[in-house]
Amino acid sequence: MNHESPPRAWVDVDLEAIAHNLDIARQALPDTALMPVIKAGAYGHGLEPVARRLDADGIAYFGVANAGEARRISRANLRTRPFILGPTIPDEREEIVSQGWCCTVSTLEEARHFNSLAALAGHRFTVHVAVDTGMGREGFLPAELGEAAPQLAALEHLDVEGVMSHFPAADEDVPFTQAEIGVFTDCVAQLQQHFNLRYRHIAASAGELGYEVPIANLARPGLLLYGVAPMASIYDGVLRPTLRLSSRVSLVRELPAGHGVAYGRTYMTERPTRVATIGIGYADGWSRRLSGSGARVYIRGHYCPMLGRVTMDQIMADVTDAPEVAPGDEVELIGPHIPVTEVAERAGTIVWEIFTGLGPRLPRNY
Ligand SMILES: *Cc1c(COP(=O)(O)O)cnc(C)c1O
Repeated sequence: MNHESPPRAWVDVDLEAIAHNLDIARQALPDTALMPVIKAGAYGHGLEPVARRLDADGIAYFGVANAGEARRISRANLRTRPFILGPTIPDEREEIVSQGWCCTVSTLEEARHFNSLAALAGHRFTVHVAVDTGMGREGFLPAELGEAAPQLAALEHLDVEGVMSHFPAADEDVPFTQAEIGVFTDCVAQLQQHFNLRYRHIAASAGELGYEVPIANLARPGLLLYGVAPMASIYDGVLRPTLRLSSRVSLVRELPAGHGVAYGRTYMTERPTRVATIGIGYADGWSRRLSGSGARVYIRGHYCPMLGRVTMDQIMADVTDAPEVAPGDEVELIGPHIPVTEVAERAGTIVWEIFTGLGPRLPRNY
């Protein structure tokens, strides 16, 4: 016998839904190039499979977080090149230059380092100038550009292909964001005196859905691709959910009234209770902050409240009102009946963290 048991918990990914959501982004911004953001393993959906599915004409770059993710994109032999969104660490730069991955520069020091590495490598290197219009994470301050731009332009082995910034509060502070668009527009004008800027970009999903940025011609949608709109928009009902998180019931037992459930005995049964033990825990990304939050799971057509704390590999749910539930049954934790937005709200966090927290122990099925 050589039978492999099915997993206790897993993720089903709908690649067509991700492609559909990218089309929605394209329709929303008809004259704008797109950089699908697939950092953090495509927000838990799986880096290579998502990249392969989206690797089509009309995509400018794949947005990744670091050199390790860029390397995985390179090795997948795709036509689209990776773009490293955050600042680069000095000892990553040699690989970045030799591979010709695109990235940003925030200081003259970084730019000079890239310039000398490109000189050594014997080819030119393409960068985007980052400007900090409010995020405080990377980029030249707008006031520094006047002095920095001519010095950047003097670096012989660098090609400045674009300018980028990032909204810190597109979904929380509309007046700030509108003012920020003006600042960004001025920065672009200033840089355009020195460079032919093929790409000008500032918006992620929220910025894309909520604002007009006439100077921009590239957008970086992330969350939106994975079916969630961070801002109310006309595209709300049109995005398709992309992922389903499932587990299975391992055991069903009857506990008497007054019995504790899980660590700390924070939950005590109030009546004789049928309790299902389910094979998923915080090690899989089912956050421990869901403990006592009113989180629920969906089994055989019933919503079943989760009981007590989330443990590393298991959770318990009340199946008293779902008498047919039995060991082996599938359990929906995120899916058509339990949207990821509900899970994030109960966990007191954002959808991004729920997606990217889905652990490596969960097999991904496509
Ligand atoms: C993560 C990230 C994005 C994508 O953000 P979403 O809100 O998920 O669309 C875009 N740009 C940068 C610089 C990022 O770090």
